[in-house]
Amino acid sequence: MLSYTDARQKVIEVVTARRKLPPRERVEVGQALGRVLAEQVIADRDYPPFDRSTRDGFAVRARDVAAPGATLEILGEIKAGGTFSGTIGPGQCVHIMTGAGVPASLDAVVMIEHTKPSKSRVVIDRSVEPGQNIVRRGSEARAGQVLLTPGTRLGYAELALAGQVGAHRLEVFARPRVAILSTGDEVVEIDKKPGPFQVRNGNSVSLAVQTELAGAVPVPLGNAPDRIEELRARIDRGLEADVLVLSGGVSMGKYDLVEVVLRELGAEFFFEGVAIRPGRPAVFGARREKLVFGLPGNPVSTMVTFELFVLPAIDLLSGAAPRPLPFLRAKLAAPVSQKAALTHFLPAQLTWSAGEPVVRELPWQGSGDIVVLAQANCFLVVSENKLECAAGDWVDVLPRRDVF
Ligand code: AMP
Ligand code: MG
Repeated sequence: MLSYTDARQKVIEVVTARRKLPPRERVEVGQALGRVLAEQVIADRDYPPFDRSTRDGFAVRARDVAAPGATLEILGEIKAGGTFSGTIGPGQCVHIMTGAGVPASLDAVVMIEHTKPSKSRVVIDRSVEPGQNIVRRGSEARAGQVLLTPGTRLGYAELALAGQVGAHRLEVFARPRVAILSTGDEVVEIDKKPGPFQVRNGNSVSLAVQTELAGAVPVPLGNAPDRIEELRARIDRGLEADVLVLSGGVSMGKYDLVEVVLRELGAEFFFEGVAIRPGRPAVFGARREKLVFGLPGNPVSTMVTFELFVLPAIDLLSGAAPRPLPFLRAKLAAPVSQKAALTHFLPAQLTWSAGEPVVRELPWQGSGDIVVLAQANCFLVVSENKLECAAGDWVDVLPRRDVF
């Protein structure tokens, strides 16, 4: 059976080989958080556009202040947004504010804290180096320079940069559409009262929000009972979206019919199981140009396998590179021990104690136990190569993307 890293790699290979770049649309920068850029963003002018003071203080000629204690004549002041148009000679200076333009004849700024100003004169307490407290015009970016490239995921820094250079509307890739279909005779919708042996459709919630978090558009298709005809009709509809994600019906039970139906509909499979717990029965396939993931129905399995396998596919279909899994290393608070030769993703709490990350496994009832998962902020990863770990060992931790 494939390791989860090989299975993930498989998803990336298959989707990369098949993907066409998505259509484009224009959005306002304020609406573009998490979207993927489809155009270049270019510097409209030099940045900074002038020699910028980084301090409140006095703009001086450094050679006038080669030694501490120099006294200079104050000619005027420059506020941010303004300038000083007079001639500034040797022994003279101007009061200047952070963000203001330094006059061409001056070459350093002394912080106000290092001066003793009076009405028309100022004593400079320290010696001054040329260039001190000035960011030179064009030192951050030159006019015409490419600042952001297609495929960039837009976060607050990228969006502020786009806004700053005047790109207030951005061309981004359209978000892929992800159809979500749960399966199971026992599943009822979340606003219904379940019978004594039924469960509410929690997976329809987690799959939709994980889809949104990944940057795609969820297309909810409800729940299909474990019957071939009904499954076929719903799956056929789901395959109209870019990706179909199913939950349940992929294990070894008599009524696990998802793969049977997918095969009948002409799907091919790239894997039909991964060496992980929870999530071992996960399948990945395609029918023609549409991708399909069959995730196991136990809620924690569904969530883990979405993160591991569906997310990189969505990234690629969004026009971006697949985001790496955001692993951290942390010190184990108490020993862990697993038996099955699989890589385990165990609900856990990551905290920082004396500046050091510490992780503790939470006791749980297995992959159906979302009560415990809701107390967890991460998964503790126990590799099939090291199933026993002692307290104090450094271990891999996969933070939950939604709470970190
Ligand atoms: P399955 O993968 O179909 O064998 O289902 C495994 C377990 O997950 C069973 O206990 C199901 O009742 C439960 N389950 C399946 N689908 C859902 C769902 N949509 N929401 C919550 N639990 C589910
Ligand atoms: Mg089922």
